[in-house]
Amino acid sequence: MLNLFKSARHKNNNAIAQATKSLNQYGISATIQEHFTKFLQGQDNRSLFHANPRLIANYLQLSERETLNILVIALKEGIVTLNWDIQCPKCQGIDFAANQLDKLRTWHICPVCHHKHQSDADQEV
Ligand SMILES: [Zn+2]
Repeated sequence: MLNLFKSARHKNNNAIAQATKSLNQYGISATIQEHFTKFLQGQDNRSLFHANPRLIANYLQLSERETLNILVIALKEGIVTLNWDIQCPKCQGIDFAANQLDKLRTWHICPVCHHKHQSDADQEV
């Protein structure tokens, strides 16, 4: 079991290293590219699922704007994905997750507590 995990992790690390090479064409320095690769390789799946751009900026020792620029490029290259989660104001659960802005709705009904609420996506995005 452990060997299978290590094998899969090794394959993932190679895939991450291959994917981040695509950042070269956007003028991302080799040092930043290497740090970004190590960040992606060093995090567990749970940490990467909802990665905070400010924490990534801190890890890379870059400004938030520089980090967002890299993340937008990484999004374009398919290295990362971007989702918008709508959180229920009553139970704090995630009642809707969209991977495209046009999928967001104005009104939501939480599937857990059935609270109907209006999203504040216009102010938050
Ligand atoms: Zn709820």
